[in-house]
Amino acid sequence: MLLMKDVIREGHPTLSARAKEVELPLDDETKQTLIEMMEFLENSQDPEIGEKLGLRPGVGLAAPQINVPKQMIAVFTTDEKGEKLYKLSLVNPKIISHSEALTYLPGGEGCLSVDREVTGLVPRYKKIRVRAHQYLPETDEFRKIELRVSGYVAIVLQHEIDHLNGVLFVDKLVEHLDAEPVVFKFEEEEIEVK
Ligand code: ZN
Repeated sequence: MLLMKDVIREGHPTLSARAKEVELPLDDETKQTLIEMMEFLENSQDPEIGEKLGLRPGVGLAAPQINVPKQMIAVFTTDEKGEKLYKLSLVNPKIISHSEALTYLPGGEGCLSVDREVTGLVPRYKKIRVRAHQYLPETDEFRKIELRVSGYVAIVLQHEIDHLNGVLFVDKLVEHLDAEPVVFKFEEEEIEVK
């Protein structure tokens, strides 16, 4: 089981390196890593389990954050309306197109690998199209997918895909942004991207 001690922090060389493409088909060890990454996110968002294990709540985790330099991410969140749930274990994800328009999280972003308080906004594309392989642990299926997402989920995916390119959100901070922020229907403390 992954815990906070397994999450490497800002300054670790793996976080600023480009992650390697995952070879397909997936081997058992890689599948297990994907399962543990998702389990971490689910545990972190469960108030009881999260507190017991001392986890910071997270909606996304990239493999380099647990010092596995491979192109894999896990995302577990709803959209900004709280309507649609995204539970994604993605391998070799790529942004294949994006809107001109930008957006941002009004409260700024957060990251499990960044412990300090950071002020500033992170410019993100409002809409993106992502091509990836998705692993479905329940059925041990693996399939090619193309996702079209906007707003909050697009921001989470961009934050996680940045990790695969050795980029942290703190590398992208601006003071002001001429764009429309994501508007949430739920409490702000729940919306940090990790
Ligand atoms: Zn992060």
